[in-house]
Amino acid sequence: MITPSKGKLIVISAPSGTGKTSIVKALTQRTKNLTVSVSTTTRKPRPGEVEGSDYFFVNKKSFEILKDQGEFIEWAKVYGNHYGTSEKWIINKIKSGNNILLEIDWQGAQQIKNKFKNSENLVTIFLKPPSLDELYNRLKERGKDSDETIKKRVSLASSDLEHSKEFQHVIINKDFLTTLLKIENIIFN
Ligand code: 5GP
Repeated sequence: MITPSKGKLIVISAPSGTGKTSIVKALTQRTKNLTVSVSTTTRKPRPGEVEGSDYFFVNKKSFEILKDQGEFIEWAKVYGNHYGTSEKWIINKIKSGNNILLEIDWQGAQQIKNKFKNSENLVTIFLKPPSLDELYNRLKERGKDSDETIKKRVSLASSDLEHSKEFQHVIINKDFLTTLLKIENIIFN
């Protein structure tokens, strides 16, 4: 177990299929005091996804209401669905000294960067797939989305990649363990 210094806000972004979710899962299992924010989304649950653990799943109308009520510290439309992070949850966690991990897209990362401009505790990481072909293969292997959705996500990934330069750290996810160790090194050193 690693015991990091308290109160960091870590943003990890990556095109869908880069392996971000597995990395984040391993990070939380190996690290004390690291909590992943659970986002709210209008996307339909994938097989095996759990309400309140993977996401809070809501319909478009409910999302709009939450957004208008100022519930989200950041929100974005990604691959046709809406996603948002609860402001109250983040602020409470940070205040009580927790390390928070946000698994969000580059649009959300931009909003977080603006809100935490002067914070030394903000760490931003972009994970890249080794190539777009590799990304397509990984999404196919995952087998959770239709071919049409996969093609859409791969074509959008190339524009996502252009935003990698807005992040403090860029890592190419060739090998799971190497990537994990690199991220731990960035976060805790
Ligand atoms: P997925 O549908 O594959 O779970 O996620 C699709 C994309 O939405 C991923 O890039 C993921 O990081 C992003 N995402 C998930 N939650 C949020 C959020 O709360 N805000 C933003 N801006 N992006 C999110």
